[in-house]
Amino acid sequence: MAKRQRLMVHHHHQEEEDEESSEGEEEERGQFCDADEEDEERQDGSQQQRQQQQGSKIKIKLASNICKVCGQRGHSAGFQGSVYVDCINKPCYLCKTLGHTTATCPYRIISPGFGVKPASGPQGSLARSIAMREVSPSSSKSLPCPPRQPKFQVSAAIMKLHTRRVTVLEFHPQRENVVLSADKKGGIAAWDFAKVNERTLYSDCHKYLVSGMKHVSWFGDPTFATGSADGTAKLLDLECGLHSQMIDLNPNGYTTEKEWKMVNSVEVSTDLKAIICGDSDGRVHILDPRQKRCVTSLQLHKTGNKVCCLGIHPHESRLVASGSNDHTVRLFDVRGFCSRLLDEGIRPSAPGPSTVSPAVGSGGPSGDQQQQQQKKQPRGGKSHVSHPAEIAQLPHPRVVNAVSFSPITGQRLLTTCQDNRLRVWDNTLSACNGDGPNREIVHSHDFNRYLSPFKAEWDPKDLTESNFVIGRYISEDHGGVALHACDIIRADTGAYTAQLFDYNLPTISPVNKPHPTRDLIVSGSSRSLFLWSRVADDEDDVEEGAAVGPRDTSAAESSAAPGRHRLQPRIPFTLYDADPDSEKKKPKGGKGKGKGKGSDSD
Ligand SMILES: [Zn+2]
Ligand SMILES: [Zn+2]
Repeated sequence: MAKRQRLMVHHHHQEEEDEESSEGEEEERGQFCDADEEDEERQDGSQQQRQQQQGSKIKIKLASNICKVCGQRGHSAGFQGSVYVDCINKPCYLCKTLGHTTATCPYRIISPGFGVKPASGPQGSLARSIAMREVSPSSSKSLPCPPRQPKFQVSAAIMKLHTRRVTVLEFHPQRENVVLSADKKGGIAAWDFAKVNERTLYSDCHKYLVSGMKHVSWFGDPTFATGSADGTAKLLDLECGLHSQMIDLNPNGYTTEKEWKMVNSVEVSTDLKAIICGDSDGRVHILDPRQKRCVTSLQLHKTGNKVCCLGIHPHESRLVASGSNDHTVRLFDVRGFCSRLLDEGIRPSAPGPSTVSPAVGSGGPSGDQQQQQQKKQPRGGKSHVSHPAEIAQLPHPRVVNAVSFSPITGQRLLTTCQDNRLRVWDNTLSACNGDGPNREIVHSHDFNRYLSPFKAEWDPKDLTESNFVIGRYISEDHGGVALHACDIIRADTGAYTAQLFDYNLPTISPVNKPHPTRDLIVSGSSRSLFLWSRVADDEDDVEEGAAVGPRDTSAAESSAAPGRHRLQPRIPFTLYDADPDSEKKKPKGGKGKGKGKGSDSD
C-alpha cells in the first residue's frame, strides 16, 4: 500500500514536470518554496504590497521572529513590502553562495566588472591563439562601439492575448509590426502592435505547450516550423493558417507518462534546408520539411533528458549547439548524423547501445521498432558515449535554458543556465576546443516553476554582437512597487547596457525578443505581450514628466506611488484587453478566435 502511494506521488511529479518546459532539479529549488508559491499572485499584487509596506516596520519588530523558511528563531524571511528578505541560513538567492543575503549580495551592485568571472578553461591551444589573434573583438580596436545606453518604455500592451502563459516570441518575417507568440496550451498568435487590438489566433496547431517556433525562410509563404510538448513538429503557414506535421514522436498515441515524448526545441538550418528539433529523451532529429518526415535522429544527450534548446551558427549551419537538463551544452556537426546513419545502415548490428533510430513517420513498422528499441534503454541518466557528430561538450552546473551563437558572425557563444549564470565564449573555436567560457555573468533568472524559462536573446541589430536581452526574476523596489527588469547586458564585459523598468509592466517577463530592425523589444509576461519602445535620444534631457501621454488607469495606477525611484513616462501607452473569454470586449477591429488571413491589411 505504501509502495503504491509512493508510485502515485512519483507519477504526479512526472506529470507536473512534463508540463513545464525545461524543468529539472525541483528538489534544489524546494528550499525557496515559501517564496515561490506566492510568486504568481505577488506579481499582480502591487497594491497589496504597498499596504504591507506601510505596516512593515511594525511587523518586523513585533510579529514572527521565527523564520518561515528554515523554522529557526532570531530572524525572519519573506516579503516586507515589495522587498523579499532572504533567510540567512540559505544560500544567496542570486549568486547561490552562503554567508550573505540577496539584498547584500555583491553581485546585486550593478556596475562593470561585477558578477563577471574570467575564463576557467585551458588557454594555451594553438587554434585558440590563432582565433583570438585573428578575430577576437578585444584585439580589434576598429570595431564600432556598442550603441549608447538606450532608454525604453512600454508603449503598448495586449492583455490576455493567450489563454495560458507565453512561451515563445518571434517576429513576422515580412510585417515589421507583427510579432508571433505561442503559449503553454499550444496556442499561437500574431499581434499587430502598431494597431494594438489586431491579432490572429492559430489555436488548433498544437495541443500542448509550444516549445519553439522558427521561420522557414526558403518557403514562399511566411511559414514557421513549430515544436510542442504534444510530441509533434509542424509547419504553420501564417497566411492560410494551415499546418502540416513533420514528425510525431508518439506514433502509437499515449501509453504511459514515462513513454510520452515531447519536442522541446526547434531550429531551422537554411543551408541544409532542414528543421532540427530536440526531444525530451535526449535525441536530436533532422527533419525534411518538403517531404515532411524525419531524415535521421541521434542520441546526443543522456536518455530521459530534455534537449531544452538549440542554436545554429549563422554561417556554418552544420555547426549546431544543443543544451539540455543533463547539464551540458554539446556542439555537433550535423554532417556527422548522416555518415553515422550510413554506417548503421550498412552494419545494423553495430556495437554499442543504439544511437540512431529508424526515421519516424516514414511509414511501416518503423514506429514499432523504435518503440521496442527505446524500451530496452534505461531512462534517466544513462551515461552518454560521445558521438562522431559531437565536437565538444561544455559542462554546466545546472539545466541549460538557452544556447545561441552571436547573430552576425557566430563568433560568440552565449548560454543561459539555471545556476543564475550567463556564460559567454568570445570565440566559437575555443568552445569547439572544449575550453571554458571567457566570462560568467551572475544574473537572476533561475526560477521557472510557474514561468516560462528565461532565455538570453541576442540583439540582432547590434553589429558589435555585444548586447543581449534577458528578463530578470528578482525585483527592484521603485517607490514601493516591485518591478522586474528586462535587462540589456553586454556580452563582452558583463556590464548592464540598460535595465528596463516600467510601471505598466509590473509582472515578470521571462520571454523577450529584440526586433530585428527597429529599436523595439517585445516581452511576454504571463498571458500578455508588452512592447518596449525606445525613447528618442533628444528626449533624454527633457524635464521629467514633460511628455506624459494618456495612460490606462488600471495598469498605470501604480505609477502614482511615491518614492524617489519614481519612473517618469515619456511616451503614450496604449493597452488592449484581448481576453478571449469575454466576447463583449472585442471591438470592430479585432478578429478574435480562429485561423484565417493575417490580421493586418498593410
Ligand atoms: Zn531562516
Ligand atoms: Zn550573493
